[in-house]
Amino acid sequence: MKYNIAVISGDGIGPEVINETVKVLNLIGERSGNRFDYKYLLAGGCAIDKLGTPLPEETLDECKKSDAVLLGAVGGPKWDDPEAKIRPEQALLGLRGGLGLYCNLRPAILYAPLKDASPLKESIIGDGIDILVVRELTGGIYFGERGRCSDNGVPAAYDTEKYNEDEVRRIAKIGFESAMKRKKKVTSVDKANILESSRLWRKVIEEVAKDYPEVEVNHLYIDNTAMQLVRDPKQFDVIVTSNMFGDILSDEASMITGSIGMLPSASLGENSFGMYEPIHGSAPDIAGKGIANPLATILSGAMMLRNSFNLEDEAKLIEKAVQEVLEEGYRTGDIMSEGMKLVGTEEMGKLVMNKIEKGM
Ligand code: NAD
Repeated sequence: MKYNIAVISGDGIGPEVINETVKVLNLIGERSGNRFDYKYLLAGGCAIDKLGTPLPEETLDECKKSDAVLLGAVGGPKWDDPEAKIRPEQALLGLRGGLGLYCNLRPAILYAPLKDASPLKESIIGDGIDILVVRELTGGIYFGERGRCSDNGVPAAYDTEKYNEDEVRRIAKIGFESAMKRKKKVTSVDKANILESSRLWRKVIEEVAKDYPEVEVNHLYIDNTAMQLVRDPKQFDVIVTSNMFGDILSDEASMITGSIGMLPSASLGENSFGMYEPIHGSAPDIAGKGIANPLATILSGAMMLRNSFNLEDEAKLIEKAVQEVLEEGYRTGDIMSEGMKLVGTEEMGKLVMNKIEKGM
């Protein structure tokens, strides 16, 4: 099969980590009989410099024509003036909105060899953590009606949480489908003891669950989930939740893995279209030094193969290669610990490719 990938390298370490990912994808393509064609596009600070806008029309149009988008990171101190009307991050919001990406997948994986990076005790982590947070991305309180008003003469403000059943159903389906490829457990997170929107959320989750009899479902309140994530993260497989709760929980889940340079993410739209990017930013402090950790972006590439191209075996091959490289003690600076072998961006990419070659 042939796939068209829109590539937005972006700023800072973006181009460095994207380069390694493209090399890995090319190797996978060569060996599996698939072809990946890339279209490199501008967005973020580099687009502001060249074209005066963070998200040129051509970039959005080309992304729409592609089968998936791979993004490095955007932003940096050069464009960080809070007073500025044009900012690199506007590219991200423009892409999410313009591409109709309604679901955010954030795996929080703590690989056993990186246990030391977690702020949690070894007795809690055991042999590692593997949670997938499925967050609704285009509804709820971040998009609901808002405004300023007067509360008996006292200035006031309000925001509204609203979901319709279709919005909940489509995100629930992604949660259950994801669970089917994993440990078959879904935890739906809400605040149904207080919020009406959460009661509707829970009802729809129960309805969708009927189509997935093999998947175990439970419901937790957001406050309890925040506690359970640090008390016993191993109880979770897939967490499905609303925009705001997911925003908070996905950051908490990333934090317990302790390594920002390791975590991929996906934002999905209709018909398995998606945008794939590491959760980290453009790391301007280390840009251009060849020391950035490319693994989060390489793992984002694996998510692209799985979620947009349905190449599950190839995705697993990349994930296994990363695991093996870590087991053998290779580390970039951000995940370095005593006794391990320090490598740069390119060498880390090469190590992953060597493992893939052996595995195919
Ligand atoms: P950051 O994630 O770029 O960096 C935080 C720290 O983690 C830095 O010390 C950095 O060196 C380190 N780090 C991050 N990724 C790394 C990697 N792959 N390998 C090794 N070390 C890594 O966050 P920040 O410093 O808050 O933001 C820097 C810029 O990135 C800002 O302009 C911000 O707006 C932007 N940003 C962009 C995105 C995105 O494009 N999705 C996300 C977050 C921040």
